[in-house]
Amino acid sequence: MRLNRESKIEIIAVGSELLTPFFNETNSLYLTQRLNDLGLEVSFKTLVGDERENLLKAIRVALSRSYLIIATGGLGPTEDDKTRETLAEALQRKLIFKEDLLKTIERRFKRRRLEMPAVNKKQAYIIEGSEFFKNKNGTAPGLWLDTGNNVIVLLPGPPHELKPMCEESIWPRLEKFSRFYVSRKVLKIAGLTESKVETLISDLYPKAISVSINTLAYPGQVEIHLTAHALKSMKEAEGMIKKIEEQMLARLGNNIFSTSGEELEEVVGKLLRFKNKTLAVAESCTGGLLSNRITNVPGSADYFLQGVVVYSNKAKIDSLDISPAILQKHGAVSLQVAEAMAEAAKKRANASYGLSITGIAGPTGGSAQKPVGLVYVALATEKGTKVIKNIFPGNRKNVKFQSSQKALDMLRRYLQKMPTVINKTKE
Ligand code: ATP
Ligand code: MG
Repeated sequence: MRLNRESKIEIIAVGSELLTPFFNETNSLYLTQRLNDLGLEVSFKTLVGDERENLLKAIRVALSRSYLIIATGGLGPTEDDKTRETLAEALQRKLIFKEDLLKTIERRFKRRRLEMPAVNKKQAYIIEGSEFFKNKNGTAPGLWLDTGNNVIVLLPGPPHELKPMCEESIWPRLEKFSRFYVSRKVLKIAGLTESKVETLISDLYPKAISVSINTLAYPGQVEIHLTAHALKSMKEAEGMIKKIEEQMLARLGNNIFSTSGEELEEVVGKLLRFKNKTLAVAESCTGGLLSNRITNVPGSADYFLQGVVVYSNKAKIDSLDISPAILQKHGAVSLQVAEAMAEAAKKRANASYGLSITGIAGPTGGSAQKPVGLVYVALATEKGTKVIKNIFPGNRKNVKFQSSQKALDMLRRYLQKMPTVINKTKE
């Protein structure tokens, strides 16, 4: 890739709905903003419908007048999604089947307990010579193709799929060609919703265009991506980041769990090791996810002693000695059972702390009193046991992840000896 001041950049937004008066086309605004952050300017912006002929024309024009082309939308599995095929046609390149890509897409369906529809197979094809980016929030992969004459990037249409893919894979690549010194930082937050974060920091959004703030929301986690670009030196850019980071830290306090890229399980692991403490876990609805996340961290054997999955009532009684009377009286998804599970986990493994999770991940099994998403998370410590009642939104997988996130975050806050500030979850 060779990108310089003269290189023309074009965005193509694909989708017939974009040409109606009812639709706000926002992808190109986001892309333009982030390109500008890097000191790169957009020369052309094309909106085109789903018809193959029109799309082909738009792509041909873009190839002839622009060097970097970023197209969004039309990567889905359905008949009207034609961006990939049409670009291949314009470039006279073959589509190549990628077995590992198909596996990734199939796994995504399996996790949601769905059969992959046959039409999705087409998303496992990439254009000859291109690289692909996996899509964490959907099925359509992104593509990057450098033909020598053009660099073409294909991105999925839904903004919640496009943005994380860009933040992770596209901007770091283009940064190298920036006319500025660019410094970035990611602040990771647990325990607050995106809208809460927004209201807490909205007045900190800088007026200067040299610093940009992007908030990305995932289940159980919000991330603030800070980018600064300076003309003179890297030090200047880093100084700008430091200033805004300090303001954010003052505002969001210990709701921020990481400023250096670490995941929550790594932060908790470091704290446990630092304090020379150990942990045991008892899980019901998360089916081992919490133990899995903890043990994804190298060296976790230093502090993680035991994890049990007690899915049935019988398992809770047999493996953890939970009293049948408590189960009978309050039900498996209850404050009392969560409390007993955390205490039993701690005691059985002779650990410093016990964490437990019991809830209803859905989509079935909910009732008016105990809705889908109701999850009790408990932490047993030397000072007693704390239980938090949560009602998590989203599908089964999201409920499970948020449950594990909550458990890790309870322990993190405890280990940091800080109160659960600002967070207004029902306790
Ligand atoms: P999918 O697999 O979801 O079909 P796709 O890559 O084919 O992904 P599209 O079908 O083009 O994407 O768009 C899916 C949805 O994403 C649209 O219905 C719209 O809500 C949103 N979207 C697409 N393009 C844009 C855009 N340019 N600006 C804002 N939202 C968009
Ligand atoms: Mg589509």
